[in-house]
Amino acid sequence: MTAPDVIVAGLGTVGAATCLALARQGVAVQGFDAFAPPHSNGSHHGLSRSIRRAYLEGTVYVPMALRAWEQWRRLERDTGLELLVTSGNLTIGPADGTAVSGFLASARAHDIPHTCLTAAEVRRRWPQLAVPSGLVAGLEHEAGILHAERCIAALLDRARQAGAALQVNERVRHWRVGRHSIRVTTDRGVYQTGRLLLAAGARNPRLLGHAFNPLSARRVAVHWIDPPPGDDFRHGVLPVNFWQLPPDEGHAGGDCREFYCLPAFPRGARVKVAAHNHLPTCDPDSPQPAVMEHEKTARNVFLKTCLPGLVRRPSRTTVCFYTQTPDGDFWLGPLPEQPDVLVCALAGHGFKFAPVLGEVLAALLTDRTPAYDLSRFATNRFDREG
Ligand SMILES: Cc1cc2nc3c(=O)[nH]c(=O)nc-3n(C[C@H](O)[C@H](O)[C@H](O)COP(=O)(O)OP(=O)(O)OC[C@H]3O[C@@H](n4cnc5c(N)ncnc54)[C@H](O)[C@@H]3O)c2cc1C
Repeated sequence: MTAPDVIVAGLGTVGAATCLALARQGVAVQGFDAFAPPHSNGSHHGLSRSIRRAYLEGTVYVPMALRAWEQWRRLERDTGLELLVTSGNLTIGPADGTAVSGFLASARAHDIPHTCLTAAEVRRRWPQLAVPSGLVAGLEHEAGILHAERCIAALLDRARQAGAALQVNERVRHWRVGRHSIRVTTDRGVYQTGRLLLAAGARNPRLLGHAFNPLSARRVAVHWIDPPPGDDFRHGVLPVNFWQLPPDEGHAGGDCREFYCLPAFPRGARVKVAAHNHLPTCDPDSPQPAVMEHEKTARNVFLKTCLPGLVRRPSRTTVCFYTQTPDGDFWLGPLPEQPDVLVCALAGHGFKFAPVLGEVLAALLTDRTPAYDLSRFATNRFDREG
């Protein structure tokens, strides 16, 4: 085979979407994955991912979130599959906390339909949510949930149909930039390419090799809780809910202060609950314990305070990974010292953006200027020493 224009290492969320965007443009792209996505060894499994546009992490994300929503709908039309369902999304926290104020700033700046609610109003509307008095909430009416694994499979199918050469169960071991090309070594062969995208998720820290690495893999314990009989916790009744708890509400669970809960989705699934910050670092290639004591404690304290209807319900725990950056924003673009090698790390909140990230990375990999302000994600923003 002649050398592809681009090699993509990792065919999960970012890699699948980028292969599709490149192949649609007629770029010769070859992708490798250590496993066969969708799978449960990385960051894209677990049935559901929330998608919202009143983005509490910053208004700079909103244009990308708006585009991503449109592109998920396009993928639904192209494939005939249901990928995105609306659910509503509640952001709950102190009025002056980063979550609620970030939500409101994005909603107002981009006219995204929303409602502000007091704790009592939330409790009246959804008695399942025991919002402590003093907290407030922002409801984004049209936010939704993506069928996680189905989205990855759809992106990969469309990428193959558009001409991408995708090889699964073939791990990229290392890469080296030469004078005229980049040499990529997998566990089955050696390949040459003009540009390389490192899209290995929680294994990007390892794949960066000797390059500068500000990333860390984090372990997320995902609790699947059997809801009590009735409809209170199912999709269509309960919106997705994200909680930022002040220290006094979360202290008994250590310093875990951010949690989220996705309603039972799809039909018949359990309710999904996980912590979103203060996550332990881990090696994603080492066996992971099913659930650790501090994770159980944090979950139990959260449920008791905020979702008492789920306390002592049967549950099981699975593990997923975040690829954390020091500031919680994406790390995206050419490596500071290797302009032909690009990287993308999503800090635990990037699934919803996959189609637009594919377009952005495809543009960068083919010397075009993406249509978005990417300065906040710049790969040179961290100090090598720091
Ligand atoms: C529990 C949990 C809940 C989340 N909830 C949400 C949410 O509600 N909304 C949202 O937007 N985001 C959410 N996220 C974040 C989102 O899922 C991730 O940001 C996103 O999936 C990361 O995509 P990725 O492409 O970096 O990683 P992945 O999708 O994991 O893809 C990386 C791929 O690289 C492959 N790979 C690894 N090493 C190699 C190698 N050496 N060679 C070749 N291939 C390799 C892996 O097998 C994998 O397929 C959640 C994450 C978790 C863990």
